[in-house]
Formats: sequence, structure tokens, C-alpha cells
Amino acid sequence: MEHTCPKCDVLMVEGELDHAGPFRIYKKEGQKGLFGPKTDKITNLTQFVCPKCGLVEFYVEYPQKFQ
Ligand SMILES: [Zn+2]
Repeated sequence: MEHTCPKCDVLMVEGELDHAGPFRIYKKEGQKGLFGPKTDKITNLTQFVCPKCGLVEFYVEYPQKFQ
């Protein structure tokens, strides 16, 4: 999926965080279960960088898990 920088209107480039990933995120809602969040609610994060201004944006792989 392509993303355009909202400030510069140029195509953003996918980046990789310098850390042991992949980073994942899940919808924050109420109390966690005893064993943490349900794994079917977790989705991977991707990050895009604007090559002009340096803006970084994060996107989830499956936005429907946040509906
Ligand atoms: Zn930009």
C-alpha cells in the first residue's frame, strides 16, 4: 500500500525500525486477560518515512481489528 506525506505530498518510503521486531499492536480495551491480549486481535505495524521532511507514520496491517 502506498502512502503520501500529508505535508509534502510526496510518496513515502517504507522503513524498518532498528530493533528486534516485528512490532505488533492491539486494540486497548478494558482489562487484559490473564495471559495478555488475545492473539487474534494483534496486528503487525509497518512504518513509512517521508524522504523530504522525515515524517514517520505507522500503519497497522489489519485495521479491521480495531473496529
Ligand atoms: Zn514530508
